[in-house]
Amino acid sequence: YSWDRLVRSSASPRRDSGISVLVTGAAGFVGSHVSLALKKRGDGVVGLDNFNDYYDPSLKRARQALLSQHEVFVVDGDINEAQLLARLFDSAQFTHVMHLAAQAGVRYAIENPHSYVRSNLAGLVTLLEACKSSDPQPAVVWASSSSVYGLNEKVPFSESDATDRPASLYAATKKAGEEITHSYNHIYGLSITGLRFFTVYGPWGRPDMAYFSFTKNILQGKPITIYRGKDGVALARDFTFIDDIVRGCVASLDTAGKSTGSGGKKTGPAPYRIFNLGNTSPVTVPKLVRILERNLKAKAKVIAKEMPGNGDVPFTHANISSARTELGYEPKTDLESGLKRFVKWYMSYYGDSNKGDTNPEESRQ
Ligand code: NAD
Repeated sequence: YSWDRLVRSSASPRRDSGISVLVTGAAGFVGSHVSLALKKRGDGVVGLDNFNDYYDPSLKRARQALLSQHEVFVVDGDINEAQLLARLFDSAQFTHVMHLAAQAGVRYAIENPHSYVRSNLAGLVTLLEACKSSDPQPAVVWASSSSVYGLNEKVPFSESDATDRPASLYAATKKAGEEITHSYNHIYGLSITGLRFFTVYGPWGRPDMAYFSFTKNILQGKPITIYRGKDGVALARDFTFIDDIVRGCVASLDTAGKSTGSGGKKTGPAPYRIFNLGNTSPVTVPKLVRILERNLKAKAKVIAKEMPGNGDVPFTHANISSARTELGYEPKTDLESGLKRFVKWYMSYYGDSNKGDTNPEESRQ
């Protein structure tokens, strides 16, 4: 099989679907789940991922292997490679782009600021340029983040709330991404849907995130660090289970409209939409630890520290009424049952070796 034939066959939908999606960041946590869900219902799916080592690349390779069992081809490549993107868009007539590739994490930016600029800004523009000049023009659904609400203290967060106080460079690049995609919508008529995910967790998750590194450390008898806000208040997050996020992503894609290239029919201005995808039920980090302890049948060694003020926000809480109304989005999984599923996966993936690789610099809370 040649590269182009692999791309074409992976991109071709089952006859009744008519949907063909390029998923960037397909070897990532959310990207691998979304790719599988789309493929399973009959859409054509091609993945793109640069397999960088922000966290253990062997986990990304394992997700790729799972995808390849379901005949999803994941191309090794970077969203900054304009020629590669042109070749991909030429080989496959993508109706949609699900853009999930990004430099994630908050504290990693202290040492690696340019990684955020490269993937979340420059890479985003290179990808939008490819979408803009592709025929048909694909509808774009992409991952923004709840972090855009930053130090905003009004809860729950609604899409129309202020996003002018980013607490990290990561948040600033996501906020800038919203402005950048909006300009492409305005100037080139690209259909854009930005999804503000709230702390996504679950099987095949990200080792740099707190629930994951806590699990590893609790099992290995190593201490975990829990941060508290300045006034001693526990941090809280609107933890959202991966299957709920996947349903939100798929519904966004289905309501984004068909492609509006020169061949397609345009019935008005292309939509620009932003949705919160959260769980509407924040849980404190100490409570998260208690649930993990119960599931792991082990006690955590907790070191409590004051939040260092290098990127984390004290709490997040999504108002999801827009997503409910327009996407039919309804989160179904509470933290108790979601963590049970995560721990089950963790045990089967890492077995007794507990080799879950975490970046010691980062344990996002
Ligand atoms: P992830 O790191 O597991 O997935 C991102 C994937 O993109 C990785 O596999 C990485 O190798 C790839 N990638 C990064 N830069 C790339 C580039 N320049 N070119 C090609 N591939 C590249 O992260 P995730 O948790 O799956 O997040 C998916 C998206 O959702 C990201 O945009 C992230 O910012 C956003 N998001 C995630 C959360 C969460 O809690 N997981 C919350 C809010 C927003």
